[in-house]
Amino acid sequence: MTSSEIRESFLRFFRERGHTIVPSAPLLPASPNLLFTNAGMNQFVPIFLGQSLCPYSPPRAADTQKCIRAGGKHNDLEEVGFDTSHHTFFEMLGNWSFGDYFKKEAIGWAWELLTNGWGFPPARLYATVYEPAHGEPGEFDIESCEAWSALFAGAGCDPDIHVAKFGKPDNFWMMGETGPCGPCSEVHVDLTPEGQSRGRLLNRNDPRCLEVWNLVFIQYDARGDGSLSLLPARHVDTGMGLERIASILQGTRGFRDFSQRISNYDTDLFRPLLLVLEKLSGLPYKGALPEPGGRGEQSDVAFRVIVDHFRALAFAIADGILPSNVGRGYVLRRILRRASRFGRTLGLRPPFLPELLPPLTSTMGEAFPELVEQESRIATVLATEETLFAHTLERGLSLFEDLARDAARRESREISGEEAFLLYDTYGFPLDLTELMAREQGLRIDTRGFEESMEKQRSRSAAAREDDLLSVAAQSDFVGYEELEAEGEVVLLLAGNRAVF
Ligand code: ATP
Ligand code: MG
Ligand code: MG
Ligand code: MG
Repeated sequence: MTSSEIRESFLRFFRERGHTIVPSAPLLPASPNLLFTNAGMNQFVPIFLGQSLCPYSPPRAADTQKCIRAGGKHNDLEEVGFDTSHHTFFEMLGNWSFGDYFKKEAIGWAWELLTNGWGFPPARLYATVYEPAHGEPGEFDIESCEAWSALFAGAGCDPDIHVAKFGKPDNFWMMGETGPCGPCSEVHVDLTPEGQSRGRLLNRNDPRCLEVWNLVFIQYDARGDGSLSLLPARHVDTGMGLERIASILQGTRGFRDFSQRISNYDTDLFRPLLLVLEKLSGLPYKGALPEPGGRGEQSDVAFRVIVDHFRALAFAIADGILPSNVGRGYVLRRILRRASRFGRTLGLRPPFLPELLPPLTSTMGEAFPELVEQESRIATVLATEETLFAHTLERGLSLFEDLARDAARRESREISGEEAFLLYDTYGFPLDLTELMAREQGLRIDTRGFEESMEKQRSRSAAAREDDLLSVAAQSDFVGYEELEAEGEVVLLLAGNRAVF
């Protein structure tokens, strides 16, 4: 099954069960508490809270939601590329009940789609249910436990092994520090060659046991003071990672051979992008899965980071989020600079990210037409940002090498805050990028010292606060972007001149 067919079959399944298919919300969230849209439920928060009426009849919806998890409560940035199942940008397939059906139906349909619809062998599936530890909210989710147990027993699988209980960190879902939340019940897939994990690998971040679907039973509103209040009605909110499902459906030879398993990056969602990178770099993507707890081969990590980050950038820019020096714009700039740096390790010449646009629009442009509509704007922003950073990347990297050698000579494992700040301030290296490079060499950064240097500089001169962009802008004549909302155009500010794209 192609990823498009998987997406379509999910939506068809729920359409046939009374769900209205709704479009993905933009990555720019309506809520001021979020950096990016991070889950399918975000756009339905006002309905959950009883602030707006559910417009669907029956009150059910399904969609595929564009998500970015690179900041705030859900931040997977540091995992990306090192493992093969966390992306900065991913699609979350989801179905919702707004005060309508509840646990039994949601669990029954999840089971039906996975086993009958897509053919997952029940023996490979594991369900987790909420059992609060002492002091955690709510109570044991007996209803979900019974529903799953009956399904597993009916398929000849021992429910004592296939249904497992976990506490708040894994089985109580929250969008952020505040907002609708509740206990959840998740589906995991045993991907060991023999399928004998017997639940021992659940929730351990072990690539041999993959979490694929989360069924959240929204019952509470988390308030700013940490307390939970009961919502006027109970809702179902589910989320399933399309890339993970694709890796299983495309990589196990129809569930006959789990030794041939592939990762998310070997699916049709990423392969076309990797092929372009292979061509540009002349290097092969070997695609070896990292050992549990391992970090994978360095060039493979670079390939994965680049294609992952590229998707996040392209989708975010298409939704009108632009790289900048503050807030979500700075998260985007950091993502781009990480991609640039990994591009450098593959010997790619900047700007290379725009070269990945054609394979992206041809694989995902039908499901997300905004990619096609915004293609030239995305290309412009990517090329400008990459070129901007390229000015200082080389010199910053050689400074970093000196610092790392110096640390080794001093037999120290640490790069000082001042040094990291120099990289940030003069060469435009975001702290997280310097940390990442340090980690590769077994070094740490004194982040407290970094903050102190930052603070010192802030008070030294209000003008210098203008940001690192200005120092770079002195060499190019690019000073920033401006958004023309009405026309949906990006304006590049070029030292007093405006260039419209
Ligand atoms: P994990 O434990 O793997 O980090 P999660 O519990 O944080 O996942 P949920 O918030 O439950 O994830 O999101 C619902 C589903 O979305 C997950 O079951 C998974 O299939 C998918 N998903 C979550 N985070 C990512 C990500 N960073 N990249 C790709 N898919 C993801
Ligand atoms: Mg997570
Ligand atoms: Mg999880
Ligand atoms: Mg989860």
